[in-house]
Amino acid sequence: MTPAASNAPPPPYPCLAQESCVIRHQLAEQLAQLERSAAMDSLTGVWNRKHFDQVLETEIDRSLRHRQPVSLILLDIDAFKLINDQFGHSAGDAVLREMAQVTSGLIRSSDALFRWGGEEFVVLATATGHRNASRQAENLRTAIAAHRFPAAGQLTISLGVAEHLGEESAAEWFQRADAMLYAAKRGGRNRVRVDTRGNSDQWASTQASSALHLNWQEGYESGEPTIDREHHELFDRANELLDTFLSGEEKFARIAPVFDRLMQHVAAHFADEELILERHGYAKLEAHRRLHARLLQRAQELRGAFQAGQVHLGGVVEFVAGEVVARHLFRADREFFALFARQEDAA
Ligand code: GH3
Ligand code: MG
Ligand code: MG
Repeated sequence: MTPAASNAPPPPYPCLAQESCVIRHQLAEQLAQLERSAAMDSLTGVWNRKHFDQVLETEIDRSLRHRQPVSLILLDIDAFKLINDQFGHSAGDAVLREMAQVTSGLIRSSDALFRWGGEEFVVLATATGHRNASRQAENLRTAIAAHRFPAAGQLTISLGVAEHLGEESAAEWFQRADAMLYAAKRGGRNRVRVDTRGNSDQWASTQASSALHLNWQEGYESGEPTIDREHHELFDRANELLDTFLSGEEKFARIAPVFDRLMQHVAAHFADEELILERHGYAKLEAHRRLHARLLQRAQELRGAFQAGQVHLGGVVEFVAGEVVARHLFRADREFFALFARQEDAA
């Protein structure tokens, strides 16, 4: 955390309460740092099991909402006890660290690696059905089998794969992946076993259109003309971003101006909406202001991480369509709709 906050470049989006912007930014960063370290496995530096349990529910929600498949790849080092016995516990630790490092380097940036426990790791593969996950697992298996670990020479892993199915719970999903890992072990180790069921097959047969668009509905109208006009525009700009994304153009230079235009509109709209709500004496205005400030803060962080190449574009889309539109517009904003209906009735 740099104390020379005044030297920091100005944020790309206006802070709603300018004077508290820098402090808020610093606090948010400190908090993010703390949250990150609580979610890390101290030996290997990858995400820990606690974090895995936390994100699994979110990923299931996200998968069902966007009809994007999601898969788990469980991997367990074969005969790891022998490595400990033969080379000592600290060599075993070194193998675990290297396994985490090598595997991290092999998975896509949109996926996440967790140490589930002992010598067992799990890859959460987003936007991935069982076929793709199976290929990824096989790639991991061959790459590890070919790798030389300085602390122990060559070793193998067994892997179990399961795509999320229906609306099953996180525990049920994990259990299916674990059963596949067990089958791989029983089948002789150094192999991949896949549960070939999953939502990707169901969705492929029922998907009417592959177009990913936000469709405006009359029920989204609050009755306040400025707010409704700006919400409409927000949809248009979000669709512009989705179109750019869907055109296959994932380059930062191409997507950044579209993202910025959308976020500038969002910032201006939040300011307008707050003024209108203030004029109408909205009782929950302060809480709503905080939601706005948080979203702008998130946008700013995402923009920075995106620029540094740390965010898959899917993450940007989830923020725009999921957080801003679905959760904020459709949920938080709907709470003040009654305000305008009442005013109109009274008029
Ligand atoms: P399998 O092929 O069936 O997976 O056999 P395995 O020997 O790999 O599995 P088993 O579950 O029998 O043994 C796992 C061993 O991993 C036992 C435990 O002492 C060791 N282990 C667990 N956590 C750590 C750790 O953090 N460091 C080290 N060095 N060893 C660990
Ligand atoms: Mg093992
Ligand atoms: Mg084990």
